[in-house]
Amino acid sequence: MVSTGTVYELANDAYQVKVILVGREVQVHLHDLATGFDLADGPYLYRATRPCEEGSLVATGLRDVEIRVCGEEMSITGVLAGLRVEHVLRLPRVRAMMEERITLRNLTDSTISLTGFAAGMQRRIADGAGTIAPELVADRLIAVPFRHRATDPSGMDMDFQMADLIQRPGLEHRATDRPLRFAYGSMPSMQWASEGWAWTHGDHVFGFFKFNQEAMEFSVLAPEVYDDGLALRFGGASMVAGDPSALRQIRPGQTVELGITRYETRKGDYRQAYYAFRAFLDENGCHFPEGFNPPVHWNELYDNPEWNLGTPGNPPGPRMTRPVTYTRELIEVEARKAVAYSCEALYLDPGWDTDFGTLLWGRDWLGPRDQFVRKMREKYGLGLSLHCPLATWMSMDGRGVPSWPVEALQMDAKGNVIPGAICLGSKQYLDEATKRLLAHCADGVVFLMFDGNWWNGGCWNPNHGHPVPYTMEDHIRANLELARRVHERYPHVLIEMHDMIAGGSVDRYTPVYYKYGLPGSYDDNWGFELMWRPMDDILSGRARSLYYYNLGCNVPVYLHIDLRDDNEHCVVLWWYASTCRHLGIGGTHSNPAVAQAQRQAMQTYRSLQRFYKQGEFYGIHEEAHIHVLPDESAFVINLFNLSDDTRIISGSIAVEEMGLHRDRWYIMPKGVWFDPNSGTVSVSCRMQPWSAETIEIRSITSS
Ligand SMILES: [Zn+2]
Repeated sequence: MVSTGTVYELANDAYQVKVILVGREVQVHLHDLATGFDLADGPYLYRATRPCEEGSLVATGLRDVEIRVCGEEMSITGVLAGLRVEHVLRLPRVRAMMEERITLRNLTDSTISLTGFAAGMQRRIADGAGTIAPELVADRLIAVPFRHRATDPSGMDMDFQMADLIQRPGLEHRATDRPLRFAYGSMPSMQWASEGWAWTHGDHVFGFFKFNQEAMEFSVLAPEVYDDGLALRFGGASMVAGDPSALRQIRPGQTVELGITRYETRKGDYRQAYYAFRAFLDENGCHFPEGFNPPVHWNELYDNPEWNLGTPGNPPGPRMTRPVTYTRELIEVEARKAVAYSCEALYLDPGWDTDFGTLLWGRDWLGPRDQFVRKMREKYGLGLSLHCPLATWMSMDGRGVPSWPVEALQMDAKGNVIPGAICLGSKQYLDEATKRLLAHCADGVVFLMFDGNWWNGGCWNPNHGHPVPYTMEDHIRANLELARRVHERYPHVLIEMHDMIAGGSVDRYTPVYYKYGLPGSYDDNWGFELMWRPMDDILSGRARSLYYYNLGCNVPVYLHIDLRDDNEHCVVLWWYASTCRHLGIGGTHSNPAVAQAQRQAMQTYRSLQRFYKQGEFYGIHEEAHIHVLPDESAFVINLFNLSDDTRIISGSIAVEEMGLHRDRWYIMPKGVWFDPNSGTVSVSCRMQPWSAETIEIRSITSS
């Protein structure tokens, strides 16, 4: 393309950015120095949609554009749909990466409501007939960190060719919009959204990732159609399913600062982009704390009658089965199992509370809480952990609602109280829930699971102390607030937070790091509900989501799996041990030989637990995982044969990629060898169908 406008340039070790202003058009050329490849090569897209009398007004391109280069930054400013846009590209001198930030300011004296917003680099990928350019045919676009989500159909990955952008519609997630209901899903869209993307080109991968702790925001890929060709839009910022919601109401004088986009190129395949994203999150405080040592849980749920009750009729209500199904004697049987399976804490699922969601201790059948906690600790050496279903799930269940202040009931948009629907964000609920949760902590409880906390459509009650209407972001802040209040008094009590929009479902709605690492925030993410049928989740591929998550994110995942699904090779136990930093188990296998194998496997797990709780995670492929303790010059390889055939599972990885020194002696277990020429460690193991192997490798020079 021949341009005659003013040229502005900025470069560092990674990229060269050339911006050319031709009339109103801001052309951005992003040249990748490692590959010599032009990642962006045309007009930067600025587009905003506003309602108007005739329907909608779509504004494109900036007016009154000014461009400045100052030090490491280039800023592009202008006006779009009445908003002043400040668009900054930063190329640090000392880092081989680029960052981008967009800020919008309403300079008018009326509120601006956007129904759509898109800004991004563009790269021409096809001609006017939709034929993909030859140099891009082999490239791939892979979602980070979910190449496969737990909700994706078996066999479908977020791993595209350029041509797929023509052939497949995009997707946008959706969540429940009504009280007393629970639903999630997706709608077709003209864009694909993910925390980040990996774009592979030759032997390099280019990553672009979004980070925003103030508003839900995603990195977007979108095809942009022009008369003479097709462009790929990426980077920048986009509205996805109405988020970031601040764009829907920008008040006069208000500034909306959107999240940061990080661009980074690395040599290697898509995994290198995953590691780059993970490092980006780490830099922003989204990394498990030093010495992270969550207690391994035994969950009583799977062997306990309370959760497994059914009836073919209609027994007289209300259901009050807990005094029979959740006795001290039954729970002590579970505590003995916890010890036999080398667990560190007993996790109590529903039944410990007076009724579902009350968060009140079932003293009538469990005795005084402080005595119970002490007995667990002194007699069994176990901590005590509690399931805490919050307002939303309790409202759908209904049983625990009468124990909460009536002032906490939700109101609809017309001001009608919604019977039975407790508002999680109401000060009345939060104050009382804080009191009840702190009482557990005061008696020595070590872990709280915040479950049943999903979004249920908002609240218009003006007496709740939350904004009216109460939005998804308000709901997320309320969840966080409850964690903060507990952590303020008990910073070492671990809090697991289910997805604050999708709750206890297989869906992950919020960005994987969302609100983690903020003061007083939660400690664990939820493992996408893959607890009930863990073998089926492996068979269907749903459990692959945990492997990809671990490659791309150091926020710990918690899951407690049903061991009754496992086989004699303990493939279920090891898969989840290898992919969840905080492990819970439960359920006695019907085959005593399998149960015995599991108890032995748990002894091995406990002896190696630092690798799984605190190690750096790397993947050779889905069936070969590595957990590294660089300070100990040691690592563990977990191999899996996830197939019906006996196979040789093998793979290689450079030891420096794992942060280990090449010039050392390591003890090589059977099936493991090093290649001094390439600096790699290789492993090869003949494995039976649906089996797992655990191999520990240590340096002898570490002492
Ligand atoms: Zn409310």
